[in-house]
Amino acid sequence: MAIIEVSDLSKRYGELEVLKRITFDVHKHDVVAVIGPSGSGKSTMLRSLVHLEQIDGGTIRVDGEELVEEGAYSAPRKIKQITSKMGMVFQHFNLFPHLTVQQNLELAPRMVKGESAAELRRRSGELLEKVGLSGRESMYPAKLSGGQKQRVAIARALMMNPHILLFDEPTSALDPELTGEVLQVMKRLAEEHTTMIVVTHEMGFAKEVASRVLFMDDGQILESGSPEELFANPRFDRTKAFLSHGL
Ligand code: ADP
Ligand code: MG
Repeated sequence: MAIIEVSDLSKRYGELEVLKRITFDVHKHDVVAVIGPSGSGKSTMLRSLVHLEQIDGGTIRVDGEELVEEGAYSAPRKIKQITSKMGMVFQHFNLFPHLTVQQNLELAPRMVKGESAAELRRRSGELLEKVGLSGRESMYPAKLSGGQKQRVAIARALMMNPHILLFDEPTSALDPELTGEVLQVMKRLAEEHTTMIVVTHEMGFAKEVASRVLFMDDGQILESGSPEELFANPRFDRTKAFLSHGL
């Protein structure tokens, strides 16, 4: 079953064509790694899925429901309902600095769902344990390391019971010694069959964890395949150059 179906997604910033008729599907339990050079449109693609960017053409469906159909967006209430099925984790964590860890986790579900405070506390406690942060409930983000902040952000995204998690370079802002603890949490989520799209420069992670890899270049998905196919036998010189030099 397709959780996300994207066809002919186009996006411009003024004259600049950032996404050029992109088409791909993500199925339940897929872990899709998106790789590609800086400026190729990876973030814009991810942000378009959760309506942080407005697209100019194409169709995005989530669980069979159209967020946007051939360039025409659904009504605001439907957009909200559809985007709430996706959890996003950003490069720079985007935690609320004035809220504690626990308040960061509970804010969004408290506003949209009718869950009791006790139930929210039970779930936030459970998710903090899952990301290895039990006991940090009342700390403020400023007191946490980057790796801890990102694990809080992952737990916060999970609080909404998303059908899919979207990660935009979740370890790129971290010191190298802190990336492992975040990748470990993501790997565990993948093992539990969480559906995910992960924009990443961590080729080891993509090789080991992804079920499919998309290589983006200049606003297009140049090629896609299993990690075995794509890393061992890239079809295009552009892909080869990126894999060997990161260019
Ligand atoms: P990536 O995440 O692959 O590095 P982005 O999606 O961030 O790529 O950017 C794709 C292209 O769109 C780049 O050329 C970038 O400069 C441009 N771009 C991104 N955001 C904006 C914006 N808000 N206004 C104008 N151009 C933008
Ligand atoms: Mg980016």
